[in-house]
Amino acid sequence: MRRKHKTPSRYYAGSLRSKYAIREERKQAKAERAKYDNDPANHNFYHSDFWKSLHKQVIERDQGICQYCGATGTQADHIYPRSKGGKDAMENLVCACKGCNKRAGARIFTSFESKRRWLVKVRHVEGVIEPASGTLRDKLRARRLAEATAS
Ligand SMILES: [Zn+2]
Repeated sequence: MRRKHKTPSRYYAGSLRSKYAIREERKQAKAERAKYDNDPANHNFYHSDFWKSLHKQVIERDQGICQYCGATGTQADHIYPRSKGGKDAMENLVCACKGCNKRAGARIFTSFESKRRWLVKVRHVEGVIEPASGTLRDKLRARRLAEATAS
């Protein structure tokens, strides 16, 4: 059986848009995409400018030291996981090394300290650090110095 053609002719009007209209539409689409990329509530969040600046701030605050194991950290870790509703705020973020960040994954901990203790245990490293304090670098330096002189 042949179906009756139901599509009205105005359906095709779209192909007759002027090139200016098309250009305008593309511009709008681009603007919308940018808006989407900077929205904290989407999967593309880690590419957003917001995250990049936050990430930089966290690394700066913690002086590039993993707050869990004391190694060099290049990542900003959500203490309470983002996928479980953790906030993108400085209080919920600490500098972490790749290993610690990956190992913790989306596990939920009651506090930074409990997370740190767990990570130190499962990663077989000696935990060095209290949560970000101003004298962090000095402590580490002193510790490394002591180790160097002991051995
Ligand atoms: Zn670490």
